[in-house]
Amino acid sequence: MEVIHTIKELQSILNRYSSQSKSIGFVPTMGALHAGHMELVKRSVAENDISVVSIFVNPTQFNDKNDLIKYPRTLEADYKLLEEAGNSYVFVPSEEEIYPEPDVRQFGFGPLETVMEGKFRPGHFNGVAQVVSRLLDIVKPDNAYFGEKDFQQLAIVRELVKQLNLNVQIVACPIIREKDGLAMSSRNTRLNENQRKEAVFISKTLFESRNRCKEYTVDALKDWVVNNINSNPELHTEYFDIVDGSNLQSIGKWEDTDYPVGCIAVFAGEIRLIDNIVYSGK
Ligand code: AMP
Repeated sequence: MEVIHTIKELQSILNRYSSQSKSIGFVPTMGALHAGHMELVKRSVAENDISVVSIFVNPTQFNDKNDLIKYPRTLEADYKLLEEAGNSYVFVPSEEEIYPEPDVRQFGFGPLETVMEGKFRPGHFNGVAQVVSRLLDIVKPDNAYFGEKDFQQLAIVRELVKQLNLNVQIVACPIIREKDGLAMSSRNTRLNENQRKEAVFISKTLFESRNRCKEYTVDALKDWVVNNINSNPELHTEYFDIVDGSNLQSIGKWEDTDYPVGCIAVFAGEIRLIDNIVYSGK
């Protein structure tokens, strides 16, 4: 696997492949790779002639400076995992390479961005759109892989691709969890021992809510989830909403959609964790 730092070098390599009609798979990440990321990488490797992974901690999507500073960085370990997975190229640009000038573009995603993560992390999705559009323009992949763990991000990326009329297939990959059920996240490494132990309560509550969804109204289930999580002294729910998975808008009744998804953000101390669950069969 080759490590590449500049756009010029990456594009001269990728041009060779595209001129031979070889397919390019792409996985954008912020590094501190774990098995969740690697699931995306494995698919990119398996489904394309060559696979490119980017590692770039994008400053424009962090609305919390402290979160950016403390974001875990584990480059050497990341390279090893990618090498083992058979990935072809890892693109690790500097901030100047991605943003030679400040990116002042303002995207608009309407109702998709005014709810949940968009509401509680102002500017976050504009930053995501800036970096994803930039990276897709640099790599020009045939297929780009995103995780359902970031459910709203996936919807925003699909909308971005539609708005910019980009010729790329967005491939969604299911949430990968730790053995105990906690959704894998680079931020999990920042949890202290007790927070890590209690964080499992988030996925446990979501799984239990799936058992209860047949008997509860939407509002009653939302209350139950929030109260249950907040009863744990290590955890505090920022939001929990049950939305129509196809447009991310809150539903009032189960009959409002055949794709209800519960999306949650929870603080364990200062670490913010997100997760979601599909209430299938409703
Ligand atoms: P990040 O490095 O957090 O920006 O994540 C890079 C990509 O990996 C995004 O598309 C995430 O949705 C995806 N991802 C992160 N964690 C998981 C997980 N536990 N399961 C599936 N995909 C994930």
